[in-house]
Amino acid sequence: MSVKPFSLPSYAKLNLFLHVTGRRPDGFHELVTLFERIDLHDDITFSPAPVGEIIISCDDGRVPCDERNLVYKAAALLLKGENVAHGARIHITKRIPVAAGLAGGSSNAATAIMGLDRLWGLGLSSVRRLTYARKIGSDVAFFLYDTPLALGTGRGDRIKPLTSQARLWHVLVVPRAPVLTKDVYGLFGKTASCLTKPDADVTMMLRSLKQKDFAGVGRLLLNDLEVPILALKPHLARLKARLVRQSPAGVSFSGSGPTVFAVTASEAEALRIKDIFSRTYRQVFAVRTF
Ligand code: ATP
Repeated sequence: MSVKPFSLPSYAKLNLFLHVTGRRPDGFHELVTLFERIDLHDDITFSPAPVGEIIISCDDGRVPCDERNLVYKAAALLLKGENVAHGARIHITKRIPVAAGLAGGSSNAATAIMGLDRLWGLGLSSVRRLTYARKIGSDVAFFLYDTPLALGTGRGDRIKPLTSQARLWHVLVVPRAPVLTKDVYGLFGKTASCLTKPDADVTMMLRSLKQKDFAGVGRLLLNDLEVPILALKPHLARLKARLVRQSPAGVSFSGSGPTVFAVTASEAEALRIKDIFSRTYRQVFAVRTF
């Protein structure tokens, strides 16, 4: 029996806290990070295709639709790993800016694992889904958990969902300065002066989230990748300073950048700041924890 086409949302994330604690023997960095799912999302439509065929399309011409697409990678892994006689046609409607530190590709891959599980009737266990996610990339695992906030350790792929009910408002400014994650991490070792941000800070951040204390969250924002991001794109320091002037509660980069985001006190404040930055930047969003 053929399953009817269906669509699933694929959300973006911010890193409220990203502390690099060391380098692993496998070359990856060891992280302590706080993921926040936000309501900015792509939509992915799944429909059947002839056996063995994976056909990807996307409304954003900058996204590759061949084997470089993380959705393709997920589909190819599942086809082989589950040894099934299926195919899939997958269309991505993009809203999440690409190569912006918002993990759009990783989120799409996680949505693909869940969508293909349903399309192909695989009945994958959560452990099996996680195994596929980790093969695709470090950020994929978070999106398999239906949680707005989570602590990530290891490569960022060991996920502990948080019970906090905190829902934050943000403004995101996405400058036209795509940054490759591998370049940022490549520079990290050369630019970082120390790896000693105390663990106490993440504990305090978790407490602020539990208490729904947005000002505390803003004060404790941290991203150890800021130094290499600014070494690659020095002009982003001006953007960050400008956002700090508008939103003193707290401003940080997400992931490997270049997205700069602020924690705001309310939706009204997020919309006010969005309005100001929209005059000079094309991609500005007011978003909320989702
Ligand atoms: P990372 O997860 O590496 O931090 P990012 O959030 O900065 O990535 P993405 O939007 O995931 O950025 O894009 C990173 C790269 O992945 C881009 O160069 C893009 O061409 C490629 N890519 C592969 N598949 C996708 C996809 N489904 N959506 C967006 N980009 C994709």
